[in-house]
Amino acid sequence: MATIFSRIVKGEIPSYKIAEDDRFYAFMDINPLAKGHTLVIPKAETDYIFDIPDNDLGDMMVFAGKIAKAIRKTIPCQRIGVTVIGLEVPHAHIHLIPINSIYDMDFSKPKLKLSPEEFEEIRTAIVAALD
Ligand code: AMP
Repeated sequence: MATIFSRIVKGEIPSYKIAEDDRFYAFMDINPLAKGHTLVIPKAETDYIFDIPDNDLGDMMVFAGKIAKAIRKTIPCQRIGVTVIGLEVPHAHIHLIPINSIYDMDFSKPKLKLSPEEFEEIRTAIVAALD
């Protein structure tokens, strides 16, 4: 069965899309730790990130870097934290999270509740900041 993220890529489930190319897709995390929290995934369904072929893995990080730069231009923060967990959704994904301290990367914290309008406003601003 297709993962929820594959269904997002196919457009079967809505997402707040930031960017895509032929191999990768970036969209806002629906339960964000911070405004701007974004996920980057490979379109090819792979559960564990280190099972992604080397070339794609490297290119995925380059793709994520472009998204991270746009998030950083949009959301005031010291830098963009990068992490991979993958315990919830079996489709590899990189978390990009605006941070000011190590505690901003604490996934046990309560998540933000953003309205659709807030998600859309942040999404539009990040997309406009892409090079
Ligand atoms: P993990 O697999 O532990 O890295 O966590 C999966 C992440 O995916 C969590 O941060 C969820 O909030 C996020 N997530 C799950 N379903 C969706 C969805 N439909 N749209 C956006 N983000 C999602």
